[in-house]
Amino acid sequence: MVKMKLREEIEHYHSYEELTRILQAFEKEYPLLCRLDSIGRTLKNRDIYMMEVTNSGSGRPEDKPAYYAEACTHAEEFCGANVALRLIWDLVSGYGRQAEVTELLDHVVFYIVPQVNPDGVETVMTTGHIGVCNGRYPVEERQPLPGLVPQDINGDHIVAQMRIPDPDGEWKISDKDPRLMVLRKPYELSGSFYRMYPEGIIRGDVDGFEVPKPKDVNLNRNYPANWLPEGLQYGACELPLSEPETRAVAEFIDSHPNIAGVCSYHTNARAIMRPFGGKGDEHFKGADLALYSALGAMGTEELGYELMSTYNDFTPDKSRVRGGTLMDWTFEDLGIPSFMLELWNVYDAAGTRRPEEFHFAAKSEEKDLAVLRWADENLGEKAYLPWKKVEHPQSGEVEVGGWNWLWVERNPPESYLGNMSGHASAYTIKLAMTLPRLKFQRCELTKLGDGLYKLTAVVRNAGYLPTYLTSQAETMKKAPPVSLRLSAVKGSYETMCCTHPEDIGHLEGRFGRDAEWSRDRAEWRPVERRAEWVIRTGSPELELELTASAPRCGSVSKRMMIEMRKEGNYVF
Ligand SMILES: [Zn+2]
Repeated sequence: MVKMKLREEIEHYHSYEELTRILQAFEKEYPLLCRLDSIGRTLKNRDIYMMEVTNSGSGRPEDKPAYYAEACTHAEEFCGANVALRLIWDLVSGYGRQAEVTELLDHVVFYIVPQVNPDGVETVMTTGHIGVCNGRYPVEERQPLPGLVPQDINGDHIVAQMRIPDPDGEWKISDKDPRLMVLRKPYELSGSFYRMYPEGIIRGDVDGFEVPKPKDVNLNRNYPANWLPEGLQYGACELPLSEPETRAVAEFIDSHPNIAGVCSYHTNARAIMRPFGGKGDEHFKGADLALYSALGAMGTEELGYELMSTYNDFTPDKSRVRGGTLMDWTFEDLGIPSFMLELWNVYDAAGTRRPEEFHFAAKSEEKDLAVLRWADENLGEKAYLPWKKVEHPQSGEVEVGGWNWLWVERNPPESYLGNMSGHASAYTIKLAMTLPRLKFQRCELTKLGDGLYKLTAVVRNAGYLPTYLTSQAETMKKAPPVSLRLSAVKGSYETMCCTHPEDIGHLEGRFGRDAEWSRDRAEWRPVERRAEWVIRTGSPELELELTASAPRCGSVSKRMMIEMRKEGNYVF
């Protein structure tokens, strides 16, 4: 009963308190699979929750390769939390019922952060405030300069738009729908025109209202890779990792070297974003671009979203590139295959082609009409607010109305959450299925003489990704090789000689062999390697433990029991 209630919660938006209760309920209902933790606290003293999901009975989480998924870095993009909840649900409800999910949770651990930025989400959900903010600047103090400060002035907890008649205005009422405002044509001289502003108050004595950018924190510009100062990058803050949320995420990822995949849920471009943020594809090393294409194609198949380069396809002005994003930090500095999943696009939902440059470009009347028709059917009055006369505290009578941006463009209606989160969760699970997976292919003990044995072990990577993950990781020296460790659990032995005393190098995954062998392609690296020891023991019974591990792959162990009086060889 409680479990079915949890399933229903995924398709509703939640406050921080409700989300806390849901996460606690997951942990209570699925104690063997879920462990709820906090990776840090925000400026407003909220926990940044992290749900660890794995089969706790099949080894320690830190010994398993890990997939890190997070949502709600940006305050406005709160529907990402629903994807995180759906991911938790799909994993825990699939365990024991679906063979692939069961197998996955036996060998892999998920670290899922449903809200990186709970302060920001709570602010926008409760006040209608627009921004990607965290808790650094209180809404009322964000605007240090004179000008128009966006905020709710008619008490409906929505920051919509204001229109003010002006013969020199840029906007006019659409002929096709009297609610809709459309841009005045460059050649139009006569008619009724308006200025359009965000709904807000005016600070200072300002004519022709400037709308300066308020002080804001953009957590996805605050990571250390390619960080740019505030003057070049709005919201970057004074120093990388200056914010408690980014510091908590960075410290968590840094202290979990088993993390081998990263996905961050954002909105609203309906795209699978890949690196780089600030440079072209010629900077990819080895086969990394091909790897991104292969992993991205899985997402296109699952979600119908295109794979895009943040720099090539999502940066209209190449002189103003993004820096300091989580994806660039985890890929460029750490070499982890990392994606940003941009969920939802209202133009696609409305069946019209979305503007090429998303919200940077002025919309067309035809596209906006399509969205308006869709919004009327799916959201009713909540989507496009009727224009109503309001006595503005500074400028007298104005009209407030128009798009409810947060609930139309930035986040889908609740009725869309099930389908969207289902596909996004399925894609994340598929990404986790590609992680490198160490296993012992063969272990043999050959008796050479009294108390003298040769141990032969073959270690294989059964995963799709190689044990070094990416060429970027090798370049950044973030991909230590696979190492082997032999020890005695019972009895004792001495090593007479061995090959590969500590590390056996890297093991290729299936990705490295994604086409038939050809002398024109890169040479194949091995998928398995052999190591040998000659050991001498005087113990009547000797139990050995052999462990293979690599930081990004976790570790696997094999126990071997030998009895000196027994003749013959052992195969484990
Ligand atoms: Zn975002």
